[in-house]
Amino acid sequence: MDASSRSRADTSKQSDQGAPPSPWKPTQPLFQGDPNADVILQSMDEFEFRVQKNILVIVSPLFRDMFSVGGPSERVPTEETTQIPELRAVPMLEETGDVVEKLLQLCYPGPLEPPTWSGATDVYPVLAAAIKYQVEGVVGVLRKALVSRKFLEEEPLRVFAMACRARLQEEARTAAQQTLRISDIGMSQEIDEFQFISGRTFYRLLKYRSECRTAAPTVVANGESMAWDTRRDWVWIACKASNGACAAKHRTSIESIHYHCGVSGWWNNYCSQAVSALDASPRGESVTAAAILTPALSEALKCTYCSSKALQHLQEFSGLLAQEVDKKTREIADTYDFCA
Ligand SMILES: [Zn+2]
Repeated sequence: MDASSRSRADTSKQSDQGAPPSPWKPTQPLFQGDPNADVILQSMDEFEFRVQKNILVIVSPLFRDMFSVGGPSERVPTEETTQIPELRAVPMLEETGDVVEKLLQLCYPGPLEPPTWSGATDVYPVLAAAIKYQVEGVVGVLRKALVSRKFLEEEPLRVFAMACRARLQEEARTAAQQTLRISDIGMSQEIDEFQFISGRTFYRLLKYRSECRTAAPTVVANGESMAWDTRRDWVWIACKASNGACAAKHRTSIESIHYHCGVSGWWNNYCSQAVSALDASPRGESVTAAAILTPALSEALKCTYCSSKALQHLQEFSGLLAQEVDKKTREIADTYDFCA
């Protein structure tokens, strides 16, 4: 009986005793039958992986030290290991078979496919194992995977909690910024990962979000702080219409403080809408939304001068504004220690 079939037998035995059977099965034949293997890694759920010690030694100083002193456990040769006398067993007491296999896929050079992730919760245990076993190269890959665009968009709170749990400050800040997608954390669904972060970390997240709500609108509401906007050929400045939609110039407006000249009313209205949107949701995407752009553009089309360029210019301006908003909330995140 080979190692994998023994694992399956053990799993079914567990099932007989009432424990739920593991639905996972090994997917990489190499780790089940590598003829050049000289080490067996044993997962906590009793799957076994035949691997080459030299590869582990290269990627992990912890494995290197472990093998240099003879390893944590020397297996007494049994029926199936007598064929390969030097085979040594290394128990991995906190990692499931799924995690061990994914870790190995990332450690091994060559034609192995990298693992796929169905969610951020898939990434975390492999990342934790890579950190524990000091597989630095893999840690770097998994840190990036944890804050992949998909996971940040779909489950920013979960990513935040996991980054804090792994004490990854950079990723925690990235995820904290993405939690701004959620309007009210108190009204969102409780997630299991909250059990792994401290009350202080959660408090700091709430404080960060509150600070962003205060700061984001000032990126556009306070004319004196709009140094990021250096263009002076915007159509809302150039328009000299004395009647129609642009006749009402706002020389006392906050925007005029920045431009030192009058601006078209429709653009001023866009800024007011942007401030309100940022007040509710301090994210760049808030100011590029069609719901914010369309009312201002409808007004602009009534002006013969503005109508030809209003769409292009407002899209460009709102894009710049969005960048500045996200830059601002990132700068604020960088002042927080979420992993304390
Ligand atoms: Zn105009």
